Amino acid sequence: MVRERELAKPLIGVLAVQGAFAEHVLGLERVGADSRLVRQPTDLEGLDGLVIPGGESTTLGLLGARTGLLDAVQRTLAGGLPVFGTCAGMIMLADETTGGPQPLIGGLDICVRRNAFGRQVASFEADVELTPFPEAPFPGVFIRAPWAERVGPGVEILASRGGHAIAARTDVALVTAFHPELTDDLRVHDLFLRMVREAGAHDSVGASPVHRKEGERVRAQ
Ligand code: GLN
Repeated sequence: MVRERELAKPLIGVLAVQGAFAEHVLGLERVGADSRLVRQPTDLEGLDGLVIPGGESTTLGLLGARTGLLDAVQRTLAGGLPVFGTCAGMIMLADETTGGPQPLIGGLDICVRRNAFGRQVASFEADVELTPFPEAPFPGVFIRAPWAERVGPGVEILASRGGHAIAARTDVALVTAFHPELTDDLRVHDLFLRMVREAGAHDSVGASPVHRKEGERVRAQ
């Protein structure tokens, strides 16, 4: 606690190309972070973390590729910036999807299936057991949600449904197939903020939280 109070209020960027970014801004404020909407590459400068919100991953990808934002985000994450992706954001951060190529940010060693829960149950709410929160289930809001069909050995699964990962993390990346920003439960945003503070604490003593091999964008550990 003392350590956390010593660190400045983190500044978290929220990718605001399309989708549910306003709700993330509110969630971040409520857990004690400042936020900045990210619409162009220069908006990425000086951030302590980045949120990729839900929306439509194909639209996010096409718009982001056209404006150069996708490349800029990839470069920024390669520098070790902590990132939190929800739903379409989880898809954007995946290294691959089962549905063939689409513009992605990538960097997280998972393969996602888009709209995995089927058309009949496009949107639903369900309690999710998340390993970091054993005290009570998390209210999961699923909207045409993906799941991870394959999760690399360096990625920790935080929650599963029907045998598929719906929340996962590394040291610097957090993804959920559901939408914590659409609930009053702030535990997932709080977890991301703790990851941001930890990465910042590493940085301040001169040890980057990310030690990548060539071509690797997000540390898998
Ligand atoms: N189905 C959307 C996609 O494939 C994601 C939906 C969401 O973010 N709520 O991008």
